[in-house]
Amino acid sequence: MDTSRTYDVLVLGGGNAALCAAITAREAGRSVLVLECAPKHFRGGNSRHTRNLRCMHDAPADVLTDAYSEEEYWQDLLSVTGGETNERLARITIRSTASCRDWMHAHGVRFQPSLGGTLHVSRTNAFFLGGGKALVNAYYRSAERLGVDVSYDTEVIGLDIAGGRFRSARVVRDGIEHVLSARTVVAAAGGFESNLEWLKAAWGPVAENFLIRGTPYNTGRVLRMLMDAGAKTIGDPTQGHCVAIDARAPKFDGGICTRVDCVSLGIVVNRNGERFYDEGEDFWPKRYAIWGRLVAAQPDQIGYSIIDAKAIGKFMPPVYPPLRAGSIRELAAALSLDADALASTVSRFNAAVRPGSFDHTRLDDCATEGLSPPKTHWARPIDTPPFFAYPLRPGITFTYLGVVVDERARMILEDDRPADNIFAAGEIMAGNVLGKGYLAGIGMSIGTAFGRIAGGEAARRAAA
Ligand SMILES: Cc1cc2nc3c(=O)[nH]c(=O)nc-3n(C[C@H](O)[C@H](O)[C@H](O)COP(=O)(O)OP(=O)(O)OC[C@H]3O[C@@H](n4cnc5c(N)ncnc54)[C@H](O)[C@@H]3O)c2cc1C
Repeated sequence: MDTSRTYDVLVLGGGNAALCAAITAREAGRSVLVLECAPKHFRGGNSRHTRNLRCMHDAPADVLTDAYSEEEYWQDLLSVTGGETNERLARITIRSTASCRDWMHAHGVRFQPSLGGTLHVSRTNAFFLGGGKALVNAYYRSAERLGVDVSYDTEVIGLDIAGGRFRSARVVRDGIEHVLSARTVVAAAGGFESNLEWLKAAWGPVAENFLIRGTPYNTGRVLRMLMDAGAKTIGDPTQGHCVAIDARAPKFDGGICTRVDCVSLGIVVNRNGERFYDEGEDFWPKRYAIWGRLVAAQPDQIGYSIIDAKAIGKFMPPVYPPLRAGSIRELAAALSLDADALASTVSRFNAAVRPGSFDHTRLDDCATEGLSPPKTHWARPIDTPPFFAYPLRPGITFTYLGVVVDERARMILEDDRPADNIFAAGEIMAGNVLGKGYLAGIGMSIGTAFGRIAGGEAARRAAA
């Protein structure tokens, strides 16, 4: 990091969106400095936890099967967001996924076909060989080869912005403050999901019991500074991607392997041993992202996913082994739940199950009758020992509150003018496309599309 130099493009953050922006700006011939607040071994933010990105394609293409049209992608997005999306920006994202794989490949990213347990997304999602960590490493290698400067352990703590024009950033590294001037800036520093105080301000004290699935470095500091500097915002601070994860997961950075995927094969009860939602409402990939919020609404923000021996082998096991017992009462004791309450919930559930032919690959006819809440598919009596339980907590993946951007990734100000030389990409603007809900793999689609746009536009602006 050369503090005496005025870079053309300063990139705030060091994940997927930041690197896509940095590489694109450098390829356009501009000088670029990436500021990553994590140390080198933790570089890459939430992007290093990812597995795939969702891509449109008109015919089978490298690892993607069949076809997934722009229209189908758009309709899927419309349905999960309930219309809370900006169609123009969403379609830009979707269209860019038709061609971005070639660019990614040119910068060292490799893809692999879906493996067992993820075959249901082989048509829509391209998996990264080696996961997000390999993708991030490939991008850093490519960026450095191109001559992008990278400064790790460097937190952006201040932005000098006046009238929508960026002048410099104040950063701290090794306890020493520096001021860095640049002609343009790309904000790609993630959401505020790891800022527990901000989560509590949005959700109330229940947020105390949330676990953060990704990086501890996405504290929303850059987002807050942009808001304070007059950025127009989009998104509800309580909206985000929130799934049910194993309650034994670490507070931060547990990643994908802590997700509990057996909910639709059994029942889920709360601290009182009571069921609270239809576990078989729809296919798990369409429902997993609602269970974090459901658990967040329960007493003490805890739930327990309970299955019997019949479910074993039918889901991807999380990293923690389940609690195991020979009877439901013993399982209750292992979970410190009231044994009478849990036994009564299980026997009422079992009595309500109507005969059907179980098929986890389709919306089958195994349902309960006369039970509230019902279980509408894959309902089978929980009667075959041993019995297993996973404790569940809400796991925040990322938040949707962000800055408004236009189709050139320019940050929009409160008076609806585009900022002069400030661009945004990735989680920090994902709320433009994702008002609520989630479509697996679209986080990386948004970051890749808008990262590249932001890098190109910043390069053009810096050269003007
Ligand atoms: C466990 C998990 C699995 C996921 N799986 C998928 C998946 O398979 N597919 C998918 O599409 N999405 C997935 N996501 C979501 C995906 O990670 C995000 O949508 C995407 O990575 C966002 O990229 P980004 O570059 O905006 O943010 P990030 O990759 O989080 O990068 C933000 C960067 O900003 C840095 N930073 C933050 N504050 C500062 C500051 N003040 N100064 C300097 N640097 C700062 C951070 O250190 C980090 O490097 C997953 C998320 C998690 C947590």
